[in-house]
Amino acid sequence: MFYDAATETAPLEKIREIQWQKLQDMLKKVYQSNRFYQNSFKKHGVALEDIRNLDDIVKLPFSTKKDFQKDQEENPVFGTNLTEPFENYVQFHQTTGTTGKPLKWLDTKECWLWRARCMAHSLAAAGISSKDVLLLPFNFGPYTAFWGVYEAAQHLDVLTIPTGGWTTEQRLSCIGENNATLIIGTPTYMLRLAEAAQDLGIDLAGSSIRVLILAGEPGAMIPAVREKLERAWGAKVFEYPGLTETGTYAFMCDQDNQALHIIESEFIVEVLDSKTGKSVADGEIGELVLTNLGRTCSPAIRYRTNDRVRLERSSCACGRTFGKLIGGVLGRQDEMLIVRGVNVFPSTMANIVEEYLELGNEYLITAFRRGDMDELKIQIETTPESKDVSEIITTEMKKRLNLRVEIQTVPRGTLARSDYKGKRFIDERSKRA
Ligand SMILES: [Zn+2]
Repeated sequence: MFYDAATETAPLEKIREIQWQKLQDMLKKVYQSNRFYQNSFKKHGVALEDIRNLDDIVKLPFSTKKDFQKDQEENPVFGTNLTEPFENYVQFHQTTGTTGKPLKWLDTKECWLWRARCMAHSLAAAGISSKDVLLLPFNFGPYTAFWGVYEAAQHLDVLTIPTGGWTTEQRLSCIGENNATLIIGTPTYMLRLAEAAQDLGIDLAGSSIRVLILAGEPGAMIPAVREKLERAWGAKVFEYPGLTETGTYAFMCDQDNQALHIIESEFIVEVLDSKTGKSVADGEIGELVLTNLGRTCSPAIRYRTNDRVRLERSSCACGRTFGKLIGGVLGRQDEMLIVRGVNVFPSTMANIVEEYLELGNEYLITAFRRGDMDELKIQIETTPESKDVSEIITTEMKKRLNLRVEIQTVPRGTLARSDYKGKRFIDERSKRA
């Protein structure tokens, strides 16, 4: 199902036209009254007149999380990325602060509705309509992700059940009591709910839930995680990525569960070589840089997401022309480890472990030093009934990544569990000079 069929299936030239129109409108306002970008553009010597067509976007400077953090520190309390008078802002959110001080982000009513519309692409693509019933199994805090889903569901007239403050058991009962058809959460928490249902003797696979939408961490595109979730919930699994700074910028369609469509009518996407700042060819891995076009009140212009992606422009069976991120977000640019000369991303190791891990068992990957050597240890939970997967994981790590790992099995329940994002990688090596 489409949210906006006309733009979602428009030829690339038409999409570029839409982008150019929206970019001009936004830049005019930003040049007029947004101090953050006024200063940044001035510092880089770019005038509004220098931007004569869509390709000129490369003349604009990048923005980064650090820039916004610094701005908020120097200009309390909300920084200067505010295009409109303060009294127009109605929504406050902040980042989780996993990489430094949490970033605050404000939206006006208009921008907030724009965010809901972006998210609505995601719900529509997952086949969600006003006939569905959405269960929201999380506490409404200042983090933006699930608020966006709530607003999008309201925008699409979907009946919405909030369960903030409830226990896992109450949330599970709520599904059957109200015939909920859609549930949204992190893969970690969706697996946790499935595990709890198993313990409580609740038949989730036979429940009314037909769609699971994941966010917050990779999951739907890791085949092993996807299969586990689809089997446990008896539901189709979708995923969408989003950032507080940019909003929801992509979604999964029902024809390709190994890619995410960029909402190109609302975002300009660039994939760059992080070191040179130059575009990489389509199909090559690079850093995702986003410009959102409808959030003029507090925009992200050429925002470096630090996420590694691969953009392709092949046609999709769903009929959409929006470009695709193959494999979704492939990892964080700054997370790459060098272990005994081998470059590896923790997410790549995690994917291999997930392939062999049983539902309910946790794992933890630790990089540490032994003498002068970097070592990797993977702790894997097991039960007396679990298959021993130590050998196969050791072999696959060696075969696929050329990495030697030590596997340690521990009883189920030993490793920390989270209801939000799981922490499954620790680097204990001290920083070397
Ligand atoms: Zn598609």
